Amino acid sequence: MGVGSPEDLVNGVAGGVDLFDCVLPTRIARNGTILTDAGRVTLTRGGLKDSDTPLEDGCDCYTCQHFSTAYLHHLFKAEELLGYRLATIHNLRYMARLGTRMRAAIIAGQYGSWSREFLATYRPADESVAQEQRTKRLASWQSVRSTLDAAAVNRVPDPMHTEEPLNKDKDDDGRDD
Ligand SMILES: [Zn+2]
Repeated sequence: MGVGSPEDLVNGVAGGVDLFDCVLPTRIARNGTILTDAGRVTLTRGGLKDSDTPLEDGCDCYTCQHFSTAYLHHLFKAEELLGYRLATIHNLRYMARLGTRMRAAIIAGQYGSWSREFLATYRPADESVAQEQRTKRLASWQSVRSTLDAAAVNRVPDPMHTEEPLNKDKDDDGRDD
């Protein structure tokens, strides 16, 4: 769906949405950006070179339990493949924890105050970055769409002259594979 940033989820849930599907957490992880309650953090930032704390204090993910932010900074600077995996593990766990926290707030009947508190401290991506991502997504979708449209035009069946057997997906025994 392309709705996958923490702030999108928190606002979406407030509007009644409870299903999301998006590559954002894994894609930005591979680009060296991790999610924290304070917002997105770019791991290649110079200030993180000597940071011996985990990516996010209190995170129970494998990456935060075993490695420092400085190590992740080094992996991304050196373009070591392990960095992409460790950042991805953290971002996926972050999203799962966010889901758990939203669910708990709803059950406790405190989603309104919880979400206001979350959004007050979470720093969303710059609007220019978000707009750039939307433009790329749209261009990518339009390219896929034109390919699909072209394929659909070529596959319009002629009902009077169909050459494909009706049971094409079935074996001789009549069952699906
Ligand atoms: Zn983590």
